[in-house]
Amino acid sequence: MSRDPDDVESERRTLISEFLPLFYDKGWVAGTGGGICAVLDDRTMLMAPTGVHKERVAPGDLFVVDRDGRVVRPPQNATLRLTECGAVFCAVVNRRKAGSVMHSHALSAVLAGDLAEGKDRIVIRDLEMLKGIQGGTNADHHAVPVIENTAREPELVGRILDALDRPEFGKAACVLVRNHGAYIWGDDLWDAKRHAEVYHFLFEAVVARTRVGGSLR
Ligand SMILES: [Zn+2]
Repeated sequence: MSRDPDDVESERRTLISEFLPLFYDKGWVAGTGGGICAVLDDRTMLMAPTGVHKERVAPGDLFVVDRDGRVVRPPQNATLRLTECGAVFCAVVNRRKAGSVMHSHALSAVLAGDLAEGKDRIVIRDLEMLKGIQGGTNADHHAVPVIENTAREPELVGRILDALDRPEFGKAACVLVRNHGAYIWGDDLWDAKRHAEVYHFLFEAVVARTRVGGSLR
């Protein structure tokens, strides 16, 4: 029996409001940056507001938008504005069939992007944590695309779609944006949370290894 859509929406609103303080505590959405979305059905999804303290976003503060990012139902609080990440979230959801996407401004994501040094990717290997990526093994040479930043977040969409369409990035559930952060996704909210934890660990690991004289091979 399929679940009542209102129950599904209520559950996902609550989960987002529970996840954002966890992300904030890790430094992933500090300074009102970053964001998150969760698919509700094949037409709509929930998105967080922009420019607000992410650790205090309440279940009722989320927007319901369609799969093209148009607002279907705004939150009651009319001062809230929709996340700037909306166009990118829609691109990842529609192209990768993701159920949830989070956007991180973590320092580790910025520093990991620096390791690309002009190339279009970093390749992560020799870490047990690679098993935490869907379909991953600790023998993988895991390629994560790195794209250049743009002045405004919606302008990233073309670059992200280019990366998502490339077969060598088929296993990646993350795109790094140079000098900015990362978009990380999963099949549902829990899967996106797991991938966010795994990728941030991997970012910290490759940055730390480089600092102690190793190299990103
Ligand atoms: Zn951002």
